[in-house]
Amino acid sequence: MKNIDWKNLPFGYFKTNYNVRCYYRNGEWGKLEVSDSENITMHIAATCLHYGQEAFEGMKAFTGVDGKIRIFRPYDNAKRMNSSARGIMMPEIPEELFVRACTMVAELNKDFVPPYGSGASFYFRPLLIGTGPQVGVKPADEYLFVVFGGPVGPYFKEGFNPVKFQIVHDADRAAPFGTGKIKVGGNYAASLRSGQRAHDEGYSNCIYLDPATHSYVDEAGAANFFGIKNNTYVTPESSSILPSITNLSLCALAEDMGLKVERRPIPVSELAEFSECAACGTAAVISPIGAINDRDSGKIYNYGTEAGPVSKKLYETLRGIQDGTIADKFGWTLVVEG
Ligand SMILES: *Cc1c(COP(=O)(O)O)cnc(C)c1O
Repeated sequence: MKNIDWKNLPFGYFKTNYNVRCYYRNGEWGKLEVSDSENITMHIAATCLHYGQEAFEGMKAFTGVDGKIRIFRPYDNAKRMNSSARGIMMPEIPEELFVRACTMVAELNKDFVPPYGSGASFYFRPLLIGTGPQVGVKPADEYLFVVFGGPVGPYFKEGFNPVKFQIVHDADRAAPFGTGKIKVGGNYAASLRSGQRAHDEGYSNCIYLDPATHSYVDEAGAANFFGIKNNTYVTPESSSILPSITNLSLCALAEDMGLKVERRPIPVSELAEFSECAACGTAAVISPIGAINDRDSGKIYNYGTEAGPVSKKLYETLRGIQDGTIADKFGWTLVVEG
């Protein structure tokens, strides 16, 4: 076991022993290659550098109470990466190849997978980039798929304590019929400026509104949003938000707990009606929202200084499935053998 301070890990890059790579050339995927280099050498005219042919994923593995390493819903990440690939004209990756690359990364870096009970997890970062040269605006003819990973701590320094968000009216992360539904770097580039401003003004991140009318809640920074009211889990339906696998899982758990689940546009004014609100995604799992401040009107929506009971129960159930302490009746986890 490595001498790593598991309890105080940040959410960030951590150097491990190996990553796994696969090249797409002449219309087909090659073999998975193990690399001990942290660098990529590529053509100066690679399309990922000029025209944003870049998609990525984020998923986690956990050491369970039984000592087994479980990856959470990797086939869903494979499917989503392929949806991103289709969206920006990159070749799809066979799902088995994607999942195999991830399990290899976990096996090769076993010493970096945090132990059960540490509160840390192993975060995978698969990425797909256009490496073939083009100067005209066209898709590349060569691609590189890489999976690296490393141990991470909580995404927000507050952990499961409520964070503050800021509604912004002068920035969008994606266009109404743009790339908001897929996990591409360009959406993140577009959100950096407003995200940094939110930080500087004392918030964890922005609440982005629907880019067409700015009257509905879209996303909570780089996470999905949900609200709880009248025993109902409400999460936005929008053509410009990323379909979060965490959110999908929480919807299933909420339903299983007897809550009603609604996927529909959420008008900003409805924020006043929720008893709990939260951001959800792989990195934070659930991050309870304590307050939302509308940057234009100055209106403040308050949800208290502690996580609400529904968010808490959803969080504990999802984490229990990931840790192997609660039966995985939905078949979400993949045990890494060997
Ligand atoms: C990745 C991502 C999420 C969260 O998705 P998960 O599958 O739950 O990790 C939410 N919103 C955006 C914009 C994202 O990029």
